[in-house]
Amino acid sequence: SIPRNWRVRQQRYSLKAEVCNACGKHIFPPRDVCPHCAEQKQSWTNLSGRGEVYSFTTMFNAPSGFAEYAPYTMALVRLAEGPMITAQLTDVEANSVKIGMPVEMVTRKLTQDSDEGQIVYGYKFRPVLQAA
Ligand code: ZN
Repeated sequence: SIPRNWRVRQQRYSLKAEVCNACGKHIFPPRDVCPHCAEQKQSWTNLSGRGEVYSFTTMFNAPSGFAEYAPYTMALVRLAEGPMITAQLTDVEANSVKIGMPVEMVTRKLTQDSDEGQIVYGYKFRPVLQAA
């Protein structure tokens, strides 16, 4: 449906979440009913895109369309606002990823559909550069 596609697109390009107007918790990914209190009153908000690595796994066999990125690291990131998000890490060697490592969201090209020339963008996370 159109509303669902719109939601997915909002989510992909700017990492929006919903905030429950009843209990104040962040809802991510966006859904119709608050998973915390089952209310339906929600507002949109932008997440900071900052968080830390909660867990991670290195993928040596990339799925179709991702071969050029193998090996790559998928991480479960705990966002500063609380929600957990699964995303690919970028700009980091697989063997230097650590649990608790501060990361920030970046928007990157994910795949390019060769038949239609459609480029799919999405979010990845990279280490936050430490101050010297
Ligand atoms: Zn709620």
